Amino acid sequence: MNGVLVVGGGVLGFCSALALQDRGLTVTLLDEGAAVKPASWGNAGHIAVEQVEPLASPASLRAVPGRLLARDDALSLPLRDIRHWLPFGLRLALASRPDRFRAGKAALKALVAEAMPAWEALVSGLGRPDLLIRDGHYVIWDTGDSAARGLARLERGDHGTARYRPLTAGEGADLARLLGRVPAGAVRFLGSGHIAGHDRLFDALRGRFLERGGVMLHGRAVGLPLAGGRARVVVESGAELAPDMVVMAAGVASRPLMEGLGHTVPMIAERGYHLHTHPGDWPADLPPLVFEDRALIVTRFRDYLRASSFVEFSHPDSPPDRMKWERLRGRIRSLDLPFALPGAEWVGCRPTLPDYLPAIGRSARAPNLLYAFGHQHLGLTLGPVTGRIVADMAVGQGRGPAPFDLSRFG
Ligand SMILES: Cc1cc2nc3c(=O)[nH]c(=O)nc-3n(C[C@H](O)[C@H](O)[C@H](O)COP(=O)(O)OP(=O)(O)OC[C@H]3O[C@@H](n4cnc5c(N)ncnc54)[C@H](O)[C@@H]3O)c2cc1C
Repeated sequence: MNGVLVVGGGVLGFCSALALQDRGLTVTLLDEGAAVKPASWGNAGHIAVEQVEPLASPASLRAVPGRLLARDDALSLPLRDIRHWLPFGLRLALASRPDRFRAGKAALKALVAEAMPAWEALVSGLGRPDLLIRDGHYVIWDTGDSAARGLARLERGDHGTARYRPLTAGEGADLARLLGRVPAGAVRFLGSGHIAGHDRLFDALRGRFLERGGVMLHGRAVGLPLAGGRARVVVESGAELAPDMVVMAAGVASRPLMEGLGHTVPMIAERGYHLHTHPGDWPADLPPLVFEDRALIVTRFRDYLRASSFVEFSHPDSPPDRMKWERLRGRIRSLDLPFALPGAEWVGCRPTLPDYLPAIGRSARAPNLLYAFGHQHLGLTLGPVTGRIVADMAVGQGRGPAPFDLSRFG
């Protein structure tokens, strides 16, 4: 088989495939076509260029007990999944040491700084600037106290290329109209953005990929055997594919495949939940709203409205916690949002490594194997910039950026 085989057709897989085609490479994309749409379709759509600090930080670690006890259940560690989250948690605690946090932040911040330019180049290359809406987002607090604490946190924090400011009178009036009250506190972020819609985006990515001669294969990769020091891909049907190069971009499912080759990949399924409904009266031009006290983001896409929340350290195959959708409805009701309930339910996995940095690099076991997964809360944001790095590695000899190399896990 000639050319590059990309395993995984989520945002990381498609962005890598298109960037590889930009370099003139022949690309085949293998995807299992999961029955439930993966995270690339289930996310909140936010291009979160303000999130430059890895969540493995001394501050996040200090906040864990409070978040676990909080009534809103924003963070959960289900007992049935203890064998998954306990070892992950120990690694996370080590990665949160101040020195590791500082180094991780420098690496993540540099990557996130390239996210928006890479998105702009992607949508302009597709001839579809309408797919990216660069109008920032709002952060809203419920009470004067939480607003004061939130603002103090923002002042201390680093927001990368994004910035925030108080609301203008017009923005305050827009929010008051939507919420039926003046929020106790709110700021407007600028520099961030959101996508116009998931199917719109993926239709455009797939269309361009096929137009350039890309081939899509339907199947599930089940192994990465080595032959003569080079990685091949075994598909569930029994077929063994021997491309010139493989790019592993299968989200959380990348773990067993890479571990089969001897890599250490302590990745967990950090699950999130959403409710999805028709846009109703929600203003079409309102940027995403982050209700910080409720750990809730509501995004108005062109054709739908979506409310997303929760961090649940779990296993991809564990049954969903149905109460989470009920809690999400409870939050929407208590905020009195014009969000048509009950809404369609979805749960899916953020592929998260314990230091909250992605894995982007070249395998030390097989030089023809590149990887791009583990993008946690930022996979949509970092898809296009990661694709470029993958393409650079594919046409060069390098291992990729050292902070994102899998060898950091031993
Ligand atoms: C509730 C929620 C909200 C989020 N909000 C945001 C946000 O606003 N902004 C942001 O930047 N990020 C957000 N994220 C994170 C983001 O969605 C993920 O980081 C990103 O989608 C990961 O993309 P991926 O391509 O690595 O993996 P996935 O989206 O999981 O895609 C993996 C692909 O690989 C395929 N696959 C899996 N196993 C195999 C196999 N064995 N063989 C072949 N194919 C296989 C799957 O079918 C799938 O198509 C959110 C996540 C969640 C859960």
